[in-house]
Amino acid sequence: MSTFRFEALKTANSRKPVEVEVLPRKSQIFGENVFNDKAMRQFLTPESYKAVRAAIDQGVKIDRRLADNIAQGMKDWAMSKGVTHYTHWFQPLTGTTAEKHDAFFETDFEGGDPVEKFAGTQLVQQEPDASSFPNGGIRNTFEARGYTAWDPTSPAFVFGTTLCIPTVFVSYTGEALDNKTPLLRALSVIDTAATEVARYFDKNVKKVTATLGWEQEFFLIDSALASSRPDILQTGRTLLGHVSAKGQQLEDHYFGSIPSRVLNYMRDLENECMLLGIPVKTRHNEVAPNQFELAPIFEETNLAVDHNSLLMDVMQKVAERHYFKVLFHEKPFKGVNGSGKHNNWSLATDTGVNLLSPGKTPMSNLQFLTFFINTIKAVSEHEELMRASVASASNDHRLGANEAPPAIISIFIGQQLTKVLEELEGVSTGKLSPEEKTDLKLNVVGKIPDVLLDNTDRNRTSPFAFTGNKFEFRAVGSTANCANAMTMLNTIMAKQLTVFKQQVDTLIEKGGLKKDEAIFNVLREYIKETKNILFEGDGYSEAWEKEAEKRGLSNYKTTPEALKAKISEKSYEVFESMNVMNRTEVHARYEIELEDYIKKIQIEGRVLGDIARNHVIPTALRYQNLLIENVKGLKEIFGEEFQEIAKEQIIILKKISGHISAINENVHLMINERKKANALEDLEAAAYAYCNVVKPYFDIIRHHSDKLELMVDNELWTLTKYRELLFTR
Ligand code: ADP
Ligand code: MG
Repeated sequence: MSTFRFEALKTANSRKPVEVEVLPRKSQIFGENVFNDKAMRQFLTPESYKAVRAAIDQGVKIDRRLADNIAQGMKDWAMSKGVTHYTHWFQPLTGTTAEKHDAFFETDFEGGDPVEKFAGTQLVQQEPDASSFPNGGIRNTFEARGYTAWDPTSPAFVFGTTLCIPTVFVSYTGEALDNKTPLLRALSVIDTAATEVARYFDKNVKKVTATLGWEQEFFLIDSALASSRPDILQTGRTLLGHVSAKGQQLEDHYFGSIPSRVLNYMRDLENECMLLGIPVKTRHNEVAPNQFELAPIFEETNLAVDHNSLLMDVMQKVAERHYFKVLFHEKPFKGVNGSGKHNNWSLATDTGVNLLSPGKTPMSNLQFLTFFINTIKAVSEHEELMRASVASASNDHRLGANEAPPAIISIFIGQQLTKVLEELEGVSTGKLSPEEKTDLKLNVVGKIPDVLLDNTDRNRTSPFAFTGNKFEFRAVGSTANCANAMTMLNTIMAKQLTVFKQQVDTLIEKGGLKKDEAIFNVLREYIKETKNILFEGDGYSEAWEKEAEKRGLSNYKTTPEALKAKISEKSYEVFESMNVMNRTEVHARYEIELEDYIKKIQIEGRVLGDIARNHVIPTALRYQNLLIENVKGLKEIFGEEFQEIAKEQIIILKKISGHISAINENVHLMINERKKANALEDLEAAAYAYCNVVKPYFDIIRHHSDKLELMVDNELWTLTKYRELLFTR
């Protein structure tokens, strides 16, 4: 009998919900562990406080002179919360977060008393051992050192007994080695470009902030069960396992009552989030069994990205207390839905206006249409970059694999707005008569708020959908750092708005058009040029694939193909011209992501080979031996008659042999192909080899193993089964 699996099941089934501490009301504890405005006012001198505020609000550099005072204040605040260590908290290109803890505690070399110290220099800059982080060749060509530098726009926070200081991570020569640096640059250029355009409509606008509200999907699995599966432990997903009889077909999990163990976990997690100032708001069951979603109130994008990274970390830590393991993988289980991380995105002015929200007057609606249509234009121009920004080995299981959403990037805007665009397209060129203008403003632009009120026809298959007052980028994977998608989206939008501004200004200056006329004229051209990207139908249908091909839209189903767009001239141009990344930085990311792809598939291949040979085959042989004993026994008792009596057993024996040799043979072939792929010098060639030659063996091996799972005595099967993983709670 397979003791490990049954021990794990026994443990999992005997768990009780873990009690959760009851904290004061959320509004009272929100941000208590964050060095926020309130804490800063209490612990900083007025001069330092003003300097930090100016850095946050206007991006003003903080005078080094004040750094000591700020560090001192931060340390005192942190120590009042029992903190002993500090760390620069950053997001290297591994996709996770990194931290190295240093104690405040120091002894004086001269023999003075030991003290707790935190100097300004330690706050502002550190030099972590950078050689162990991916750099895509950046540091080989330049200088081997890397620096972390304080990002005052994302507040420091306390987690456990550590003061965490959000930082950027750059090379000695200033190249970004992390996700945050390009993001901050992109946010700065979208601010500049969008502010200029917003000022067509309101001269009071001085700043535009890109907002992000992510929705994190995940699976929760009992930790004992998760540990019983070598594949979950090492790859975050199941590489084998026959689908259970019950999956999600009854649709009884979605929005159903949350199981009590999970509910306690969620409550505990929410407490932590409140203390850390992460404004989580909704929690519910997702479509698949044991799948859930957590979403916050949207925030400024840099903060929202940090909060998502932090949350993923906190989720795993809190899960340990509740004997759960969180699976962030995009497709942990075959046959049930995978997980994504929708990125809800919009632009907000410092005058409190959401630029993607229709207003009450024709003028504010013209503003809405301007930003709305420019977004469509930006995505249409750079659909391949959009696809590339969400490409990863794990997200390949969603995009292009008949799972939400497809690999083709298109935009859903709903029937009503489609009609509005059609009407706008009919606007005549050049100057408008007073009647035309009134008509346009009252009948087309003026009625937008009403039509949007009943804009309920949401399309779940669209990778990029307009949902009333924001766009929702749904192709982002659940494991992803949102920075990748957000850097790309804000950069292409900044570029687009810059071009738009130039075109409008030219029409005003050279064409003698009024501002509104000029805007209408440019928008009308955009509407004509972007028809290809708009799609309201079923994104999963074969008809759409054919249609999209006709329209010239890309359809890259795998990461190596999709990533290629990152190093196209168009990509270099947009990132370079917007000063978000130079060629070296863009290329470095391409290399790192290809490498990551190769490593992920390589690890999956190894783990699969291992469990196929060390779990599946030995188990199948054991069961086969039982059958052989049985057949021998029947022969002993019944003599030649046994042929008829043991007929079924003999068929099963043969089938088992067939599957065993198929597994053996295919594992062997897969290993050979891995060897060949590993020997390839060229990174792209290796990625393609892993994608097109190695990976197809996964399905073949799985097929035979899953067949064996159905035949072999349940008591002997060592790998915890789908029904146990998905329905134990
Ligand atoms: P739905 O659940 O139907 O997708 P919601 O209105 O509940 O729509 O919003 C979903 C997500 O969108 C939330 O995470 C929310 O924070 C985010 N969101 C709402 N408004 C904005 C905005 N202006 N900018 C960015 N994100 C937003
Ligand atoms: Mg949503």
